[in-house]
Amino acid sequence: MVDDTGRVLSKLESPTDAHRGYSDGLERMIGMLRKTARDAGVEISGIGIGSTGMVYPFSGAIGDADFLPGWQGNNPVKDLAQAFNVTVALENDADASALGEAGWGAGKGKSRLIYVTIGTGIGGGIILDGNLYRGANMAHPEISHHVIDPSGPLCTCGFRGCWESLATGPAMVEWLKANATAEHCYPANLAAKQICQLAQQGDALALRAVEREAYYLGLGLANLINLFVPDVIVLGGSVMKSAALFLDGVRKTIRQGCRFVPFEKTELALASLGEDANLIGAARVWHHRFKDEPGRTV
Ligand SMILES: [Zn+2]
Repeated sequence: MVDDTGRVLSKLESPTDAHRGYSDGLERMIGMLRKTARDAGVEISGIGIGSTGMVYPFSGAIGDADFLPGWQGNNPVKDLAQAFNVTVALENDADASALGEAGWGAGKGKSRLIYVTIGTGIGGGIILDGNLYRGANMAHPEISHHVIDPSGPLCTCGFRGCWESLATGPAMVEWLKANATAEHCYPANLAAKQICQLAQQGDALALRAVEREAYYLGLGLANLINLFVPDVIVLGGSVMKSAALFLDGVRKTIRQGCRFVPFEKTELALASLGEDANLIGAARVWHHRFKDEPGRTV
């Protein structure tokens, strides 16, 4: 439950357990919504959803989503609207977070904003002139699959060297493992977080992994700046918890190749909604669709 200033009043969470089927998921969503409303002592006035993709924001249907096997074609927007008799709005989860940061977070008051989350994958949402940017067929653009190095690692999308295959946490781990020699004794289950800690302790290879991460992160951000020159890029996700290690390298890369645009006008800001960014973003989805400036294109 989120109030209309973006404050979380109460929350509940549960693993998706998608394999238990859509009707089981829907039943749990309804039960949890009723309980959180009771906990907060409020009536539900609307429901916003930020979902893993693909999803169809205007029909409300779930598409061929990797993490929701078997849910394709089901429609939580219609089903929750029926259960609660309120309006319901759905967006891709990265778009939801972009709307949250733009409305109530680090991008408040900025009309051209790109939100990028860097963790096990890269996700992003683009807000232009206050509206969520949608492509043909209302599609969510996939900024993580723009190619940085065509000779890079193979990506699940079919290309080689996408931003996502080079600048995520797992990409850092892969690189470190591939370059570690017998004298390095890194644990087998090493994660990006530990690489950042090792870098802070002065581990030479971890420092190179951090430098490489800053370079690839910077290349992708420089491309976004060259293409859009946004007012702000809001950076979130688990890798950005160590942002202090990367930002100088990122800025250096941007300075190298963005000289035909006023790159210094694009602020790099850290996401400010914290661990509730997705939750608050989902609430903002509903506000953006149904409450802000009625009649405006959404
Ligand atoms: Zn890709």
